[in-house]
Amino acid sequence: MLDNTLLANIYAHGEKTYPEESCGFIAADGTVYEGTNIQNDLNKRDPALYPRTAKNGYSFSIKDVRALEGSFSSANPATIIYHSHPDVGAYFSSEDKDKALYMGEPIYDVNYLVADINNGCARGAKLFAYRNGDYTCIAQYDAHGFLQTETE
Ligand SMILES: [Zn+2]
Repeated sequence: MLDNTLLANIYAHGEKTYPEESCGFIAADGTVYEGTNIQNDLNKRDPALYPRTAKNGYSFSIKDVRALEGSFSSANPATIIYHSHPDVGAYFSSEDKDKALYMGEPIYDVNYLVADINNGCARGAKLFAYRNGDYTCIAQYDAHGFLQTETE
């Protein structure tokens, strides 16, 4: 389902918001929903509670959360939540894990795609899935959005 055309859209979003993180989701039919990263607003309002800015964190807007949650009861549910990592590589951070889990259980039945945006240019992406209590990389894509490795 993740072909290079789809990934080109995800990469373009991450390059557009660089040096800040982009975020959004991909629906079952391949439609990309570009979210709005409101992390800077949260940080401005309450830096103690939200120490991260959009340069190293993401939070969906309320509109995005409603679209995401609404998708699960539709015929075209979200299957992947994506975000970009400016200049730090594509990995699933402890912050990403915290965001994906609630009381140790995945909040949404989705995989997570993290795009590596380096110096304003996409270098690749990794897809993470919840397996045996943790998020593990199940596929890796190159700078052109082509599948490099797949573990299942
Ligand atoms: Zn992240």
